[in-house]
Amino acid sequence: MAAAVPLSTAAAPWLSNGPASSPPRVRLLIGGEFVESRADEHVDVTNPATQEVVSRIPLTTADEFRAAVDAARTAFPGWRGTPVTTRQRVMFKFQELIRANMDKLAENITTEQGKTLKDAWGDVFRGLEVVEHACGMGTLQMGEYVSNISNGIDTFSIREPLGVCAGICPFNFPAMIPLWMFPIAVTCGNTFVLKPSEKDPGAAMMLAELAMEAGLPKGVLNIVHGTHDVVNNICDDEDIKAVSFVGSNTAGMHIYSRASATGKRVQCNMGAKNHAIILPDADRDATLNALIAAGFGAAGQRCMALSTAVFVGGSESWEDELVKRASGLVVNSGMVNDADLGPVISRQAKDRICKLVQNGVDSGARLLLDGRDIVVPQFEDGNFVGPTLLADVKSDMECYKEEIFGPVLLLMKAESLDDAIQIVNRNKYGNGASIFTTSGISARKFQTDIEAGQVGINVPIPVPLPFFSFTGSKASFAGDLNFYGKAGVQFFTQIKTITQQWKESPAQRVSLSMPTSQ
Ligand code: NAD
Repeated sequence: MAAAVPLSTAAAPWLSNGPASSPPRVRLLIGGEFVESRADEHVDVTNPATQEVVSRIPLTTADEFRAAVDAARTAFPGWRGTPVTTRQRVMFKFQELIRANMDKLAENITTEQGKTLKDAWGDVFRGLEVVEHACGMGTLQMGEYVSNISNGIDTFSIREPLGVCAGICPFNFPAMIPLWMFPIAVTCGNTFVLKPSEKDPGAAMMLAELAMEAGLPKGVLNIVHGTHDVVNNICDDEDIKAVSFVGSNTAGMHIYSRASATGKRVQCNMGAKNHAIILPDADRDATLNALIAAGFGAAGQRCMALSTAVFVGGSESWEDELVKRASGLVVNSGMVNDADLGPVISRQAKDRICKLVQNGVDSGARLLLDGRDIVVPQFEDGNFVGPTLLADVKSDMECYKEEIFGPVLLLMKAESLDDAIQIVNRNKYGNGASIFTTSGISARKFQTDIEAGQVGINVPIPVPLPFFSFTGSKASFAGDLNFYGKAGVQFFTQIKTITQQWKESPAQRVSLSMPTSQ
């Protein structure tokens, strides 16, 4: 068995030792202090490769939740009044501290979430890029100015912070997704209440510790733990002005309607079924590698995973090579050096994946490669699913309609590019889609006609860097301002437009008519 990361309380102020032989307890962060919850109920954080209980999160009580929001509300006026250059400098220091702690963060992610160390490192790095972007907030938050719109009158707009904002995170990117949220929010001048996933809170806690070391004042970032109840408290709270959510559609749509009902801004990034269209003229080797990497990387537990490959003309001529390359992947604990994919997050997740694969088989799909019964030596208790390939998948099959969120690649057939585009567009999700072709004309048609928010051309669904935004669409997103980039800054700020008049004017008669520009 792989050794768990040592989580001693001396090294981690966000953990307390439980009673003898019970796992350490994850603390709350309220008003700049890591405090132990008084909650009676807890949820175990389990290493998916071993079933070892790594730690335990509390179901934050209503009073503790109130204290976290109060701390954020109290910190707001001072932080809002802090110059943006000072707020940026905290982010400069924060990015430096994240870089210095990349390995520690990655080890924690692999222990709690299961992905390979290399992939966990990427999880942190893609979040770090958002912190780097936040270092330019002075420019990003700039308003506009038009001088002399009328005689002696100027108009300008400024972007002001909203107040207390909140973030609710999924399990699959324990570092990147918290970093999509609070760095942009707080550098805009907001204060924040973060709820990490109950399945892997460690990276968020470590990041909060680093953010405070970087100089984030007390109360600017607060952390609560839990599941439905604390999420509902966030949705209902009158002091919280905006909610960022990333996770499943079930939770996302509930949060979208409940939080909007109290007048909050809400942005929800949700589930996906990302397709690749493969034309017969595609570069064979590069396409095969892209399908394998994007289909099975992170054990398919990425919202941008490629889960469906639509082959124009049929998949038959690609199948042997896909099976060969997928079979060559190493499934093991993420702590093991040569592992290509680790376990899925829980036993329930594994059961659900296996059921959907079986449903495909029962509905007539051809099982080219079956990873359901894989046993990983020394990690026999892990939630492992090996790479799985299902061919002849049809749009009405459950395995196609549902997001599988596991290492399963579905192969479909289309008669033409038009037919393939129609298949993709009929799917309710719209996170990403890509095409593999050497024809510029086909690629251009695809980029124009495809209904997906993030489009790859010979790229297996790119997650945009932070100067763009993460632009999922259709059922993959609810709200109108996306995460990070320009839209992210707009989400976390309220625009104010000011018109001023400074002129020496001779006395005029009062006029009640509509002012017009003179
Ligand atoms: P999840 O919806 O189960 O959990 C996400 C968060 O919501 C957690 O903090 C959880 O405590 C809370 N939650 C869950 N159910 C709830 C409910 N009924 N009421 C209130 N709160 C609830 O999602 P997950 O399993 O952690 O993450 C996987 C999902 O996230 C996948 O669907 C994946 O596609 C999606 N995801 C999307 C993106 C994106 O950018 N589009 C990125 C990452 C993950």
